Amino acid sequence: MAFVTATAALHWMWSRVNALIAPATYRAASSKATASGAEKPHVVFVLGGPGSGKGTQCERIVQEFGFVHLSAGDLLRAERAKPASKNGELIDKYIREGKIVPVQITCTLLAEAMALNPTKSFLIDGFPRNQDNVAGWDAVVGPSVNLDFVLFFDCPEATCVQRALQRGLTSGRTDDNKESLTKRFHTYESETMPIVNYFDRKGLVRKIDSTRSVDEVFADVKKVFAARK
Ligand code: ADP
Ligand code: AMP
Repeated sequence: MAFVTATAALHWMWSRVNALIAPATYRAASSKATASGAEKPHVVFVLGGPGSGKGTQCERIVQEFGFVHLSAGDLLRAERAKPASKNGELIDKYIREGKIVPVQITCTLLAEAMALNPTKSFLIDGFPRNQDNVAGWDAVVGPSVNLDFVLFFDCPEATCVQRALQRGLTSGRTDDNKESLTKRFHTYESETMPIVNYFDRKGLVRKIDSTRSVDEVFADVKKVFAARK
């Protein structure tokens, strides 16, 4: 998928996503409901370093609170595995390098997955990871959903890397190795932390210390979800 300009990419993504989840009635409505009166889907973004425990906690949230879990990384890996995918090679290269895949690919995969569950609440894990992700989402999907908050798992690099290396013993992932993890953590600090800070300034971040045990972390996660309106 070669786009001449960022604008062309945005137009393409808009047309794809528009056909999936954003009928005109959704876009026109700025309130919590669509123009037809149906409530918009709820979204919680889940951010944190690679190995901070996002996927682990999302599994528990799904069981306890009935969200649909969409991991940007999982969707990209599934797309990469499709023999017919036009983007497979590109995704593979970005993942190995720990770099952020172009937003039109990630956002379209998320929108396609959301369209399969049009009335649900979504945990969107590992997104938005940079300014481009935020801009693409805001332009195309944002008006069609209610963003409840951003769940942020705070965990230092050493703990994240140790956990992800441990996961790498069985995950079969091409990026759970020391070299990729160093790059991934650098991308996280330079590109994703500014996004966490941006949402924090809007009062949307719910920060959780994820260095503790899975149960202790989940106890705090539960409090955050229980306080949800
Ligand atoms: P992420 O989705 O943020 O990359 P994962 O949820 O896949 O992270 O967790 C990475 C690894 O760390 C997994 O092997 C998981 O079992 C383990 N793990 C997750 N949370 C904890 C925790 N609180 N304490 C110890 N290990 C954890
Ligand atoms: P994760 O499974 O969240 O650890 O993500 C693994 C890799 O997938 C990342 O290092 C990126 O290369 C890619 N990726 C995950 N989420 C995104 C995203 N929101 N935007 C672009 N690339 C992503």
